[in-house]
Amino acid sequence: MRCFNHAEDRAVGICKNCGKGICHACLTDLGHGLACSATCEERIQGLHQYNNKVVKYNTSAFCFGIGILFTGFGIYSAFKYTWNEALVFSSILGLLFIFMGWKQVKLTKNKRIGQK
Ligand SMILES: [Zn+2]
Ligand SMILES: [Zn+2]
Repeated sequence: MRCFNHAEDRAVGICKNCGKGICHACLTDLGHGLACSATCEERIQGLHQYNNKVVKYNTSAFCFGIGILFTGFGIYSAFKYTWNEALVFSSILGLLFIFMGWKQVKLTKNKRIGQK
């Protein structure tokens, strides 16, 4: 494949946004992909940031879900039966997960403020 800008040069990579072949002189290495132009670079960066955010929100949602499940189970069982080590452990584990999820949300928010 040849560079789409320089027909005489061999393409060394493919733009992550438009899929064009690009030579060494044309490419911008973003670390997580290659860009052929400033426009493509912007698009790829935007997409990358969006993906990162989605992953972070999914992680915190997952932590909250597990945490509520464990804590809820612990509290529910404590009311229905009696407290024992397993229930105390389950509740503490649940609270730990909720804390982790909360921390993840805080981290994402701080980062967004820091960018602007
Ligand atoms: Zn491109
Ligand atoms: Zn080129």
